[in-house]
Amino acid sequence: MKKKHTKIIKIGNLETGGGGRVTVQTMWKKSLGHFSDIDLEEIKQLELCGCDILRFSVPNMQAAGILKKIKQDIDMPLVADIHFDHKIALECIKNSIDKIRINPGNIGAEWKVREVLNAASDQGIPLRIGINSGSLDKKFSEIKDKAEAMIKSAENEINILEKYNFNNAVFSLKSSNASATVRANRVFDERFDYPLHLGVTEAGPLTAGLVKSSIALAELLKDGIGDTIRVSLTDSPLQEVVAGREILKACGLSSNGVDIISCPRCGRSTFDTHAFISSVYDDLYKIRKNVKVAVMGCIVNGPGEAADADIGITGAGNKLVIFKQGKIYRKVDENKGREEFLKVLEEYIR
Ligand code: SF4
Repeated sequence: MKKKHTKIIKIGNLETGGGGRVTVQTMWKKSLGHFSDIDLEEIKQLELCGCDILRFSVPNMQAAGILKKIKQDIDMPLVADIHFDHKIALECIKNSIDKIRINPGNIGAEWKVREVLNAASDQGIPLRIGINSGSLDKKFSEIKDKAEAMIKSAENEINILEKYNFNNAVFSLKSSNASATVRANRVFDERFDYPLHLGVTEAGPLTAGLVKSSIALAELLKDGIGDTIRVSLTDSPLQEVVAGREILKACGLSSNGVDIISCPRCGRSTFDTHAFISSVYDDLYKIRKNVKVAVMGCIVNGPGEAADADIGITGAGNKLVIFKQGKIYRKVDENKGREEFLKVLEEYIR
């Protein structure tokens, strides 16, 4: 697969585009108005689990101030998502946010757009121009073909940016329709050299959203299109990050981290694989080294089926069995399963 060499856009300490690594991002799903230390800890966990960029809705000046404080404690680049009020964008730029997501089309009068572009340019802060088929300007929303409508809207936004000599931008063209998303991004990729943020917007709950997003994103990524991805799910930011990482892995664009083999369970099961996976989920996705982990429901087929796993666990009678490369390594009491499994894993990846 040949990756297109788009412009390189610097978002905080991260480069997007230029044929480099495809990054994974998600969006904070709670109001900044009630931000707490628990939330800050959750953001740190997201970063540990492979989130490269985190975006926040910033609907007012109070939220802009809270985001400024969050930025002091977080290393990964943070993005302010702003609609309608250009003064909030100016405030976030003044606060040195890493990127602004905006649509010049909904900021209003051209002088307001010019102020935002000038301020972003002075501070070297990039913009993401986020075009969604469901919220296009009236002159584009009447075009029946949603892919064509998004391209026309993108052309319009590029004309505005370039009129003011601004090209420090990433673009996204998203629809909840996977096919329209794919077509729009293909055309954009052929015609422009701005990096692309890929995603199917409002893709749905975990399973449906993951299927829809995987099909659309894989089609583009396998053709070298796309520089950063967000899997939009009616689920937690962590699930979006995990989904993004798994899509990149399945497309051969990332090999870092854990590869989980886990059995679905059947009538032979002597070990609750579902509960065990849930209990170690975050720990597994924090691993950056390549390691294959197996969580199997029974000793009959478990170790054999997962023979090429580095570390595995299953149940046998009233004990749990930890195995390495298909061979029994240690037997532990049921209530010590999680702790012992993570200890063996830690030793293995150290
Ligand atoms: S590993 Fe055991 S419990 Fe899991 S599906 Fe296979 S036979 Fe069933």
